[in-house]
Amino acid sequence: MDERIPAYLQQRLLEYYGQEMAGRIEQGYRAERPVTLRVNTLTGTREEVCSVLQQAGIAWEPVSWYGDALILPDVSESEIAMLPVYQEGKVYLQNLSAMIPPLVMMPKAQEAILDMAAAPGGKTTQMAALSGGKAQITACERDARRAERLRYNLKLQRASALVMQKDARDLDDLFRFDKILLDAPCTGSGTIELRENVPGRRMTPEWVQKTVRTQKALIAKAIRLLKKGGELVYSTCSILPEENEEVVEYAMKGGSVELVPIDDTQMNQLPQLPVRIPGTLLICPDTHYEGFYISKLRKIR
Ligand code: SAM
Repeated sequence: MDERIPAYLQQRLLEYYGQEMAGRIEQGYRAERPVTLRVNTLTGTREEVCSVLQQAGIAWEPVSWYGDALILPDVSESEIAMLPVYQEGKVYLQNLSAMIPPLVMMPKAQEAILDMAAAPGGKTTQMAALSGGKAQITACERDARRAERLRYNLKLQRASALVMQKDARDLDDLFRFDKILLDAPCTGSGTIELRENVPGRRMTPEWVQKTVRTQKALIAKAIRLLKKGGELVYSTCSILPEENEEVVEYAMKGGSVELVPIDDTQMNQLPQLPVRIPGTLLICPDTHYEGFYISKLRKIR
């Protein structure tokens, strides 16, 4: 089993972040993160979930910036999957970093929202919950099997969304949305796990470039589908600037969107990496967080 960082990624990390920070990232890749979950407020309450955990003898810790999130330091995901609160869709297992884009978007009742790359639906169900089940969500997913998983999760979590199984680049340009989440397909360079028995990852320049081309096409489409004044949250689980800041710069070059700086004052404990665009967030892989990038844009014309 290869427990080294793929050579091409290592080279990019050193180039972008320098020796010391690349070392910190590598430590994050080697960390074994605790299970974290989000209470699904459409079907359950935090009190109910905490009481079930207590009865099952499962310890939990709060997350300072999000009341619906819990850290479970001593259990495995499969142990949680056996609990009725899991089987009834009252909780969703989700990394802490992945909970941030819907919070940055903050969907509200009646808003027309597009989740452009939605499966398996962690963020779609979270957006539904944040709006009290009242946002009008369209969830697009290209892959048929993943779209099935998305439908399953939506049903289990009692989150209402219209699922469109298609390539988001082919969505009809006549659609208009108040808010769009583009949680883009990416290389996953923020989520690498360098541990025994975890399969190694491939990472080639060609694949990174192909991924970036798709991200740029998707963000251009997202901008076309936004109402004027509407907001786009662009996120990836990559820590490579070409998939993050470069895509946002590409989007802003057209002059039809402006950056909306993310207010992270409530999230001051987040492990962050430096960003080229102030007001966007880059989370460093660490003992609790997967590497993640989040940015927000507004359509101005
Ligand atoms: N937002 C999801 C969540 O929180 O559960 C995770 C999304 S994952 C990062 C990216 C998804 O985009 C994958 O399910 C992939 O199949 C899908 N995808 C890739 N290219 C796409 C495209 N052109 N149009 C729509 N979906 C696409």
